[in-house]
Amino acid sequence: MSGAEHMSGAELGPGPGPADDARGRELADRLAAVRQRVEEATRSAGRSDAPTLIVVTKFHPAEDVARLAALGVRDVGENRDQEARAKAAETERLTGVQAPVRWHFIGQLQSNKAKYVVRYASAVHSVDRESLVDALSAAMGREQARRADSGLQERDPLDCLVQVDLDPRPEQDRPAGIGARGGVDPAAVGALADRIAAADGLRLRGVMAVAPLGLDPTPAFARLAELSAALTGTHPDATWISAGMSQDLEQAVSAGATHLRVGTDVLGPRAPVG
Ligand SMILES: *Cc1c(COP(=O)(O)O)cnc(C)c1O
Repeated sequence: MSGAEHMSGAELGPGPGPADDARGRELADRLAAVRQRVEEATRSAGRSDAPTLIVVTKFHPAEDVARLAALGVRDVGENRDQEARAKAAETERLTGVQAPVRWHFIGQLQSNKAKYVVRYASAVHSVDRESLVDALSAAMGREQARRADSGLQERDPLDCLVQVDLDPRPEQDRPAGIGARGGVDPAAVGALADRIAAADGLRLRGVMAVAPLGLDPTPAFARLAELSAALTGTHPDATWISAGMSQDLEQAVSAGATHLRVGTDVLGPRAPVG
């Protein structure tokens, strides 16, 4: 089976599945509630295209990813390479399925981790500088060569999104402790997108943003939609708009988000960041 094919939950194996326990039932309930919210938001926005739900599993174990896969989740998000790399391997082991889900990398990424990320990730939402584009492209070249040498199939191009910083406040006026959230200035989106589009092994998919902490997300998502419209003027296939988390998925859907990244409302609270 190629890595691009994904098995349905029903095919994950005979007998009691990974979601047939108390945690599995909890995840099923929470997931159903989030899916319901997405459906309602899609309907009230008058949209016929349902956004893709990416369940953000950071800080939660591979067992939860296996449960989610059994519940029909096909897209998961992670923000740290070391954690994601181990979890992707463990999830394959637990499910006995090659590539049971697509891994979306959504966090700040150091260029020296590119070589690992291209082994498991289908998409990187957080491309925020030219040096990272070059590192990902070079890593893809080496990964395809490695696969060819091992008699493995080529992987699909790495889907890349330009992360945009939509916070209108100067750095020093932002809430303390949010750290660097990443993203390029809106004025720099075009140049970075062009570089991705020209890079071997990468596929420019669109734009991504996190709503500025403590501000109304609606104007930020409206700005992101404008940037997306400008981008598709020059790159018609780069239609993805990755926006919306547990707190603001409704506003994101109403602004046209094609991909939602929802963690807490599906998995529950995360352990405090260590
Ligand atoms: C953690 C994270 C999310 C999910 O946030 P929740 O509030 O838990 O839904 C979405 N996007 C990014 C970039 C994240 O780091």
